Amino acid sequence: MSGAPFKGLRDAHLHLAEHGEALSCVDLSGCATLDEALGAVSRAAASAPSGQWIKAVKARMHGWREGRWPDARELHDAAGGRPCIVRSFDHHALVASTPALAAAGVGPGTPDPEGGVIERRGGEPTGLLLENACNLIWRAMPEPSLDERREHLRRALADLAGMGFVEVHDMLSRPWMSGLIADLAASGDAGASAVRVWLYPRLEEAEQLLETAETWQRETLRLAGAKLFLDGTLNSRTAWMLEPYPEPIAGHPHGKPMMSADALEAALSKCDILGLPAAIHAIGDAAVRAALDAIERVSPSTMGFRIEHCQFVDEADVGRFAPLGVIAGVQPCHLLADVEALRRVTPHRAHRAFPLRDLIDGAARAGFAPEEIVWLGSDTPVVRPDPEDNLQAAVHRRRAGAPQADAIAPEQAIGRDVALACMRSPDAENFAD
Ligand SMILES: [Zn+2]
Repeated sequence: MSGAPFKGLRDAHLHLAEHGEALSCVDLSGCATLDEALGAVSRAAASAPSGQWIKAVKARMHGWREGRWPDARELHDAAGGRPCIVRSFDHHALVASTPALAAAGVGPGTPDPEGGVIERRGGEPTGLLLENACNLIWRAMPEPSLDERREHLRRALADLAGMGFVEVHDMLSRPWMSGLIADLAASGDAGASAVRVWLYPRLEEAEQLLETAETWQRETLRLAGAKLFLDGTLNSRTAWMLEPYPEPIAGHPHGKPMMSADALEAALSKCDILGLPAAIHAIGDAAVRAALDAIERVSPSTMGFRIEHCQFVDEADVGRFAPLGVIAGVQPCHLLADVEALRRVTPHRAHRAFPLRDLIDGAARAGFAPEEIVWLGSDTPVVRPDPEDNLQAAVHRRRAGAPQADAIAPEQAIGRDVALACMRSPDAENFAD
């Protein structure tokens, strides 16, 4: 990163363990050729214990001079026989080495799984797996050990501290994270001491963590709420939308609600009783409306209920957050990655994507400052957590260097100072960073 031009930042939506794991992979984004990529795999494999999986990510095969993927045998040789995978930057394809294919039980007789393709040459798998076929490998890969998980968390916190973050909200915290982060902080680890971590596990796990909280909670680490899922994602057309998709998935013209109104209300009531604000995953405008409706009916006395993503919010709902005391957790940086998806999947609603200006105006009408209602985050490792990306998207509504005509809903742009306010930790002044 560019030497921490920022201080006192908060990333209000990310995935710490996965970010750390991604940092532990071989990064192929800088490779111009297949040869360079195989060289990077070789160097990583040379220092890894035999038998350890080598994971290389962010491969852009179309940008390589050779313009092709390696095959399982080439990858086997590069990784010195260790199981190895090379994953495409867009997560839609991976190449598995010969031992990785064997570990996953993929051979000539393996049928293509539904929604996936095992590429073959003369009947033999080449190593290239597309879409759902990638899951065959993920299922075979060993879970990280506790030591590896500690190392992932340590790396993630060090990386974020280096970018100027002093507070991060982990948005699907696993039960083992609290103990590992508490250990890191107690051991004086620089990242774990510099960054406050708010944990949001699933509701069932939050209940259990609450019982042991006094053994691990500390100034820099707390159980902050519980995560619920109300819909799916934009790219898979499962985000729950008010208007039907122009090209929906079969049987789901509006996407996929994941909870009934009754189940959502019951979960919100339970959160309120536990004193844990809910963080509700809602990407589509129908999901956002259902979340607001449910919070309105439950009328929780616990502060800090929040709706995460808010990728589409209808005009009728933008002003409802502040009066209900609901925080909009938004990741504008996804606009940079999702420009094409927004145009392809939701051309009819692109003008309602990431409506930051409306949300902030709605907050102002109820007497709230922008940073009281809109909390920005990155959702890393889905995209990188560079604070400049959120600023670019919030202020310019398009990729850096792209023409003005490429901007998505440019009327929803906000000023850089306002965006920064929504990215700043309120504890920043009182907290050594
Ligand atoms: Zn997330």
